[in-house]
Amino acid sequence: MKKIGCCTLCEKEVFNIQQRFTEPPLERWPRFVGAPTDDAMRLEFELLDGSTANMTFCRECAKTAPKQLKKIWAACLEAARFENDNRTALGALDDEAARERGAIEIKRQAKMSIVKMIHAKSWADEWERA
Ligand SMILES: [Zn+2]
Repeated sequence: MKKIGCCTLCEKEVFNIQQRFTEPPLERWPRFVGAPTDDAMRLEFELLDGSTANMTFCRECAKTAPKQLKKIWAACLEAARFENDNRTALGALDDEAARERGAIEIKRQAKMSIVKMIHAKSWADEWERA
């Protein structure tokens, strides 16, 4: 499952994890992250509707990411569904309206796909500039 601070494909932690969730279903999952490690890559993708999306990968997976666009988008959808189903555990607003907005957004995303990778950058370089 795609999580904050982790590689989108292999789930390796590529940021320094500052705090973790302690309760199921998210036990041990990163909750807050600090600085990226040298292994963290930030890839920008163009989506079907012309918008762009940034995602985090480890260096190894970043090399193969341009050939795994379907798998990457499937991971994003899986995470979006999981997050909408576990709003309370994640500390997000959890009422009927919020879940409904989440469901609408997931439906929109399900019709989308990644067209291509635009570029890959080191997260550490981005971090230093910020
Ligand atoms: Zn990886």
